[in-house]
Amino acid sequence: MLLSMLHGQNPLASRRLFVLFVATTLAPAIGLGWLGWRMVEQDRALEKQRAQERRDHAADLGAAALERALAEIEERLTSVFSAPPAALNDSARKSGKLSGGVTIVVFGPQGVLDHTGAALTYYPAVPPAAEPSPALFAPAEALEFQGPGPAGAIRALNELAHAKDPAIRAGALVRLARNYRKSGDFPRALAAFRNLGALADTQVNGLPAGLLAPQGSALILEALRQHEDLKSQASLLDADLRNGRWLLTRASYEFAKEQTRRWLSNGVSDSEERDRLALAEAAESVWKEWQAAARAEPNTRGRRTLWTGDQSLLALSRSSPGRLVVSLVGPQFLQREWLAGLRSLRAAQHVDFALTDAEGRPVLGHPEAPVSRQSVRTASATRLPWTVHAISVEDGFGSGGMSGRSQMLLAGIAMMAVLVLGGGYLVNRAISREVTVAKLQADFVAAVSHEFRTPLTTMRQLSELLVQDRVSTDDRRRQFYQVLLRESDRLHRLVEGLLNFGRMDAGEMQYRFEPLDPAALVRDVVAEFRQEASKTGYQIELQESGGLPPIRADRESLARVFWNLLDNAVKYSPEHHMVWVELAGIGKRIMVRVRDRGLGIPPEEQTEIFRKFVRGAASRAAAIQGTGVGLAMARQIVEAHGGEISVESKPGEGSVFTVLLPCAEQTV
Ligand code: ADP
Repeated sequence: MLLSMLHGQNPLASRRLFVLFVATTLAPAIGLGWLGWRMVEQDRALEKQRAQERRDHAADLGAAALERALAEIEERLTSVFSAPPAALNDSARKSGKLSGGVTIVVFGPQGVLDHTGAALTYYPAVPPAAEPSPALFAPAEALEFQGPGPAGAIRALNELAHAKDPAIRAGALVRLARNYRKSGDFPRALAAFRNLGALADTQVNGLPAGLLAPQGSALILEALRQHEDLKSQASLLDADLRNGRWLLTRASYEFAKEQTRRWLSNGVSDSEERDRLALAEAAESVWKEWQAAARAEPNTRGRRTLWTGDQSLLALSRSSPGRLVVSLVGPQFLQREWLAGLRSLRAAQHVDFALTDAEGRPVLGHPEAPVSRQSVRTASATRLPWTVHAISVEDGFGSGGMSGRSQMLLAGIAMMAVLVLGGGYLVNRAISREVTVAKLQADFVAAVSHEFRTPLTTMRQLSELLVQDRVSTDDRRRQFYQVLLRESDRLHRLVEGLLNFGRMDAGEMQYRFEPLDPAALVRDVVAEFRQEASKTGYQIELQESGGLPPIRADRESLARVFWNLLDNAVKYSPEHHMVWVELAGIGKRIMVRVRDRGLGIPPEEQTEIFRKFVRGAASRAAAIQGTGVGLAMARQIVEAHGGEISVESKPGEGSVFTVLLPCAEQTV
């Protein structure tokens, strides 16, 4: 309000203030903002560089770890490869235990000799085992196929089923079960298969007894429609097939698998099974290559990546014409052995790893991240089978986010900017206030001078006339003396008022409180004022309710308050020459109201006019004399009496000033 008044009055001063505000506040705040932005940018660049260094370092370590892991496997491979045939199993098995899930398969010219680690589901070739001569079973078979019935054959075979040689026992049990089945003795047939199952790896017609037994039992159970038993038998068989329980050729495996699929009515294979099949397939392709060409070459070693379906495998091999040792490294191994070993590095450096093959196909992890977040060690540079990718983990930074340090920096700068802006605003406000007060004071001095000049001019002119004896009649002279008296009274009141204001402003106002009859006080003031006002044609109407309690008050000060209100009512009512004064008791308070039908006061000025030196716009526009201290003083005095003063007004309709004062017993 004050500001707007000032701005309204002095656009030059307000512009200057605005420029000052911009120079002292906005400019440093913008500077701070720019500085903050630069620092954050630098911080970001630094952090990017650090991430790059971390990635590079991690990529080197990752590649080295992979090289170590592969070298370790190759070392085992070599030890298996160079073991003498007798020690082969031992050496292979030992390596298997150490290898942490790496499959090493040893092949001879006839096919698979042994394996370590996880078995393959099938092998490219299985060397035939020594089996008893078919002539041994010829008599029993003659009885079975040409004789009167299976009974004779069963007798003959029962004897062979107790032979010492497990191969003979196995051959006898297979035939025995067949004969029991033919004769309808299913329990005995099943029992024969159970006995056959115990012979596990013993081969009958190139197939292990452990596979033939459950297959045979399942067929009987299928014929007997014993579905539950069939299912459990088939699922045991399926588990064995999945785990590569026996050394099987691909054809035997696929036939058995097809059977179990039919019995279990389940054609789905899970990812583990697919991984194993991929290993078997990879071994098969290495074997085929060896068969085709490499068998001719003495002592070769190889490192090859193979794709089976969407799986990439690494086949490490050592071969001579008589022996092929293959180690198959699948994604599981990389996951378990290589990635797991890098766990603490990954966490510390905020990186993740991925592998791609020479053509860029993903082998492990997710190498799709943007190039700017990757450090790559190519297969050709490292001589590893894969390209190693170290990828910065998305931690919000580098992708538009901000590090904690930057955030703190920005917060600090923002706080400083807020402080500068806030401080600037407060200083600006304080300066505006001071400027306003200075302006009001200047107005006040001008107004006071003006107030003095009018009576002084009159007094001077009249005195001159009297001194020069230019007044002809006594009546006229008396009249002049009366004017002189009135003007000096006015001057006296003005000086008194200003002195009192000075005291009040300095906080040195002294009040002499005494019990007073408010009605008498108001009546006296009104009567005295009436005399003054009547000369200019104004009428004061007093309305009072009787029996008001006394108040404790300083008579002179309070009289000045009411006089001031009456004086204003008359002063600011140039058209309506009537003023109403109302005196009443409200509860434990006395109310004095002064009402006029004058200029009125706009709402936005109704609080301001009680401040010192403030004058309303309308009174200034109408050139009504005044100093702007009357209401400020009135408020001070009323508040010193424990009361309050307020105004209700509408421009053009008049104003009502209300003073409320506490009754004597309540006065503080
Ligand atoms: P002054 O009358 O000397 O200017 P005051 O402090 O008595 O100083 O009053 C402050 C301002 O309040 C006045 O300048 C005037 O604008 C406004 N005012 C006071 N009384 C009235 C009234 N009765 N009617 C209209 N305006 C008033």
